[in-house]
Amino acid sequence: MPDSVVTDSHRMLLAGERVDSASGETFAVENPANRGIFAHVPRAGAEDVDRAVKAAVRAFESWREAPPRERGRMLLRIAESVEAKTEELARLIATETGNALRTQARAEAGLAADIFRYFGGLASELKGQTVPLGEQVLSYSRREPVGVVGAIIPWNAPVMLAALKIAPALCAGNTVVLKAAEDAPLGVLMLAGLCQEHLPPSVVNVLTGYGEDCGAALAAHPGVRKLSFTGSTEVGKLIMEQASRRVVPVSLELGGKSPSIVFPDANEDWAVEGVINSMRFTRQSQSCTAGSRLFLHAGIFDEFLDRLVDRTAKLRLGDPLDEATDIGTIINEKQFRKVCNYVEEGLERSDARLAMGGLPPDSGPLSEGYFARPTIFADASNDWRLAREEIFGPVLVAIRWENVEDAIRMANSSHYGLAAFVWSRDIGQALCAAHRVEAGWVQVNQGAGQVLGQSYGGVKESGIGREFSLEGMLDSFTQTKSVTVNLGLAPPA
Ligand code: ADP
Repeated sequence: MPDSVVTDSHRMLLAGERVDSASGETFAVENPANRGIFAHVPRAGAEDVDRAVKAAVRAFESWREAPPRERGRMLLRIAESVEAKTEELARLIATETGNALRTQARAEAGLAADIFRYFGGLASELKGQTVPLGEQVLSYSRREPVGVVGAIIPWNAPVMLAALKIAPALCAGNTVVLKAAEDAPLGVLMLAGLCQEHLPPSVVNVLTGYGEDCGAALAAHPGVRKLSFTGSTEVGKLIMEQASRRVVPVSLELGGKSPSIVFPDANEDWAVEGVINSMRFTRQSQSCTAGSRLFLHAGIFDEFLDRLVDRTAKLRLGDPLDEATDIGTIINEKQFRKVCNYVEEGLERSDARLAMGGLPPDSGPLSEGYFARPTIFADASNDWRLAREEIFGPVLVAIRWENVEDAIRMANSSHYGLAAFVWSRDIGQALCAAHRVEAGWVQVNQGAGQVLGQSYGGVKESGIGREFSLEGMLDSFTQTKSVTVNLGLAPPA
């Protein structure tokens, strides 16, 4: 059997069947912890996209008419199936993404099950309204599905993000064609199989392919009535351009360079732990919500930084599948080089002080994979490239501030606006800052991940639309129709 053969569970899901790409082309999936190729998947192109979208268009006719609670019940069954396979799914995620099993991948697989459970339970909430237009008129609105949703996701939390597109779209009565990211297709293909066990054929279709051919063809397909994209701001703009040509609604969850503002009264261990969490060091900071600009008050700058370095240094880098590992690997060589370039730039700056980390190990077991060390540059300035651009790697810049006006101004001086973190025991002070920061999600005194039920999304170039919530589902995956009925016997004037 040639190495590049695609096994059945690694085939795409199209019209209820496991299929290869129409061209027969494949691409390799690499394990970033050892750079070994461990699977091949189909490389879909425009022809596959066309087949998938046409199948989803056909399936939409009956899916939209299924009673919402019946759709919800199917999602609840999917949640059970995903939960039963959490461990297998988590190991697959850890192997293809390099995210540590204990600190990341297991939680991601669990969250995917919860996402199906949450949206499954919301099926009865697709309610409309009545409008009081007088005794002779009945005016009401309906929340109707949009049609075929074209969903495109990245590799950083692939299974969770696939669930986050599929579950609300289906709950609202849409059908889905989802393109997995080229670097992390396997967990998503496994999820597709678990969905298919409980759904009619063609309601969910999952393709594997490259962005430029498969992703672009999906974004441009005339049968797609809604685009839902998570990824870089750069590609998000291309998706929005495509959407504008056909005037289809678009949801974008894009990049970030989130500020983390520490007030002097938070110079304590809990805040240090929180800052480490908010920076997502245990996900190699490959998270759009990473609090990667740390604004430390001048009065506590050195002391807080010392504690931060001390605690971060205790995190263990290693094999993602090892239970003792806290931090896994960067996803691929391109990202790894990008992160290294930023670190080199910091090292070359005479005005930057390396507080910890630096370039990756170049010998020993860690040099076999894309392992990057948590790195902190102190005495940074908010206008450095390191402080402006999303690195998507474990490089934190610590910036000094003295008065709160400066801290807020610097925090807001970014084209991004996804998340923000504020640290203070003075809750009034913290909330005033939280209200002034330009971000879709501000956390005070915690650096946790997204929560179901709470709308999540960005402002400015971090995106459009909200996810994770009932409101997000209604806004992103339904359209409102008004129906006005004249109840009087006489014809309307
Ligand atoms: P990341 O930096 O996380 O890889 P990208 O924005 O490059 O983010 O990729 C996110 C998703 O968008 C991936 O599934 C990728 O294949 C897809 N993609 C990349 N380029 C395009 C494009 N031109 N059109 C549509 N999808 C694309």
